[in-house]
Amino acid sequence: MFDTLSDRLTSVLQNLRGKGRLTEADIDATAREIRIALLEADVALSVVRTFIAKIKERAKGAEVSAALNPAQQVVKIVNEELVGILGGETRRLNLAKTAPTVIMLAGLQGAGKTTLAGKLAKWLKGQNHTPMLVACDLQRPNAVTQLQVVGQRAEVDVFAPEPGNGVGDPVDVARRSIEEARRTQHDIVIVDTAGRLGVDEELMRQAADIKAAIGADEVLFVVDAMIGQDAVSTAEAFRDGVGFTGVVLTKLDGDARGGAALSVREVTGAPIMFASNGEGLADFDAFHPDRMASRILG
Ligand code: GDP
Repeated sequence: MFDTLSDRLTSVLQNLRGKGRLTEADIDATAREIRIALLEADVALSVVRTFIAKIKERAKGAEVSAALNPAQQVVKIVNEELVGILGGETRRLNLAKTAPTVIMLAGLQGAGKTTLAGKLAKWLKGQNHTPMLVACDLQRPNAVTQLQVVGQRAEVDVFAPEPGNGVGDPVDVARRSIEEARRTQHDIVIVDTAGRLGVDEELMRQAADIKAAIGADEVLFVVDAMIGQDAVSTAEAFRDGVGFTGVVLTKLDGDARGGAALSVREVTGAPIMFASNGEGLADFDAFHPDRMASRILG
């Protein structure tokens, strides 16, 4: 992902190399090229506009620096603004003062929530936490089993409604899972919730009810980076319907353009906290805006 964007931006910035001085026309032309590259990569228009305005303003006002030539200065500005769009600092998990910390996952069906639950649990285990997964996706018949399989692979405990008791109430399961976590001394609870193929009100209400019932410390909105511009509108719908504290980008290993996912932070104001780049449990890490910007700028 981001290969095309990365190639385009690198070549735009390469064109500045060797210029002793940058005229306003040079800066305008560069800004125009960057704008096209971002739009072609599916970055949301509002994000592109703000980004380009800042680049132009800063590049035109840039102090002559002894250490950097004009081209390097523009590269530095673009890099800093890209880091800014991606959230600036790495945002760490907000851990509760009294265990368990409750992390809830929300997002559309197929976004990668269940897979992420396992990845996050494994990652947290590696940091000496004792996570427990909770199956609150009671809509899809296979979802509970799928989470149990993921839990086995990640070698973490899974709390699920007892089989044979009908569909069950996800809010009740979530509530009971917190008591269970306290009793069994798990310090982090990761709650997998139901997703639909499209945004719908019932899904939103259910997620909001679970969130309220368990007092989630973090609500992570999980979004498939392959879905293009829909990533932004889906994020807005979840922000308004459920509310979330962080974003997880999944399927960054895909070959889509990915710019929409990069817009989610700027549009919703919520930080991107984790990124998934494959189907394996280890294909996952905390999201670092500076590293992602460096990757994109080549
Ligand atoms: P959920 O419906 O939100 O729980 O989504 P799932 O966790 O079931 O994931 C849906 C599909 O996407 C599954 O086939 C996963 O293996 C796949 N998947 C999840 N995350 C990634 C990822 O980062 N990269 C790739 N390539 N596939 C992923």
